[in-house]
Amino acid sequence: MAGFTVAIVGRPNVGKSTFFNRLLEQRKAIVDDVSGVTRDRQYGVADWNGKSFNVIDTGGFVAQSEDIFEKEIRKQVMIALEEANALIFMGDAATGITDLDESMADVLRRTSKPVFLAVNKVDNPDRMLEATEFYGMGFDNVFFISSMTGSGSGELLDAITALIPEEPATESEDYMGEDGEAVPAPPAIPKFAIIGQPNVGKSSLLNALIGQERTIVSDIAGTTRDTIHTHYNLFQKEFVLIDTAGIRRKTKVHEDLEFYSVIRAIKAMDEADVCMLLLDAEKGITAQDLNIFSLLVRKGKGIVILVNKWDLMEKVTNTARDYEEQLKKRLAPFNDVPILFISAKDKLRIHKAIELALDVFDTKSRRISTSQLNEVMLKAIESYHPPVVRGNSIKIKFVTQLPTHVPSFAFFCNYPDEVKQPYKNYLENQLRQNFNFKGVPVRLFFRKK
Ligand code: GDP
Ligand code: GDP
Repeated sequence: MAGFTVAIVGRPNVGKSTFFNRLLEQRKAIVDDVSGVTRDRQYGVADWNGKSFNVIDTGGFVAQSEDIFEKEIRKQVMIALEEANALIFMGDAATGITDLDESMADVLRRTSKPVFLAVNKVDNPDRMLEATEFYGMGFDNVFFISSMTGSGSGELLDAITALIPEEPATESEDYMGEDGEAVPAPPAIPKFAIIGQPNVGKSSLLNALIGQERTIVSDIAGTTRDTIHTHYNLFQKEFVLIDTAGIRRKTKVHEDLEFYSVIRAIKAMDEADVCMLLLDAEKGITAQDLNIFSLLVRKGKGIVILVNKWDLMEKVTNTARDYEEQLKKRLAPFNDVPILFISAKDKLRIHKAIELALDVFDTKSRRISTSQLNEVMLKAIESYHPPVVRGNSIKIKFVTQLPTHVPSFAFFCNYPDEVKQPYKNYLENQLRQNFNFKGVPVRLFFRKK
């Protein structure tokens, strides 16, 4: 399933964000710091049992009046219910069940989606005794955890990931493809998503494209109703644009556009083969953009960076070149991505943007033959050997591309665990220099032959 999403809901201070941070370890989260009543919400991708899923920490609330509190929390729960595949409802063993917990539980009991009641702050056996009162809330799945120590969270995550279907066999990195073996056909129609922060110009770009191109189908049944899929026929190539921007107008909860738009952007990312990350030329790349970028890399998506509102920039010699150079510095280490300067308003280079996305899609779906790969890569290895580690000289004998959606390469060698990051970087650079992988994250695996 593309994009299983778990939302953590609960009243303030129960430990949602502590749990979220533990789940993501040191990985970056997308934080939307909504001013006013809410504290930051966080979005990220977690891994457990070899499965990946999106996690939303729905945040807390800066206390105002009790009324606002209740209203906001109810809204948060409603959105989480609508958008997530499963919910973690967090309680606090230290304070016990409160009225606010009860009123949230009332809403959550009515959903058909799986709800996992996680009673947090069960740091010791005494707390465990007190915590048993939470069984009285009537949820089938109750877990006692301590986000501080990590205890109990494994069981909770086991139960949640059990809901996520296994990836299809072809995604398995254990599959050893040799030349001539069947590899999965690339998806028939490329799916593109336009991603970016509010006001960067996503709707404008979409409208500029729709205005010029023939729209064949809209709103395809069977796909999630969250995103509008529009089919295009451009340069004799068919593709689908996943529209996240257009959705907002349809939602009832107008006040919380930000929450919706971020969740939907993440869903669009999951569905898309290639994401066009839109930046605002005047603002440059922000920390939030970088977080989104690293999420795209982690999800193995094809990426095209579009610097929009280029019409507003005062241009002197080399403006674009210098801008691109600065941008690449910020994107490092992965900066082998196409960057294009566009204006959705003036319809400047918007077709070129689609062309680039199509190129990246082709690159991402391409298979390199094992013979070609070995010819090039073994030569590269020959000219720069992996350093000797603890007296072991590492010999890489054979390279093959795995039949996965994210281009992945298995290097067979005598001491796979001894190949360190700098050498992995060297190999990735060699791959990128010899075979075009612009805009495509690649993965390297080291195996014992
Ligand atoms: P949120 O508002 O629900 O996101 O709650 P936070 O994650 O910000 O946590 C609120 C407070 O509870 C912080 O002071 C945390 O350090 C504390 N806390 C979180 N988890 C635990 C836990 O498992 N045990 C204990 N004793 N404290 C915790
Ligand atoms: P979204 O929130 O990302 O969908 O952004 P919109 O498409 O709604 O655009 C936000 C604002 O930026 C609007 O006022 C647009 O007219 C403006 N805008 C969008 N693209 C451009 C552009 O290329 N140049 C200029 N000057 N303004 C733009």
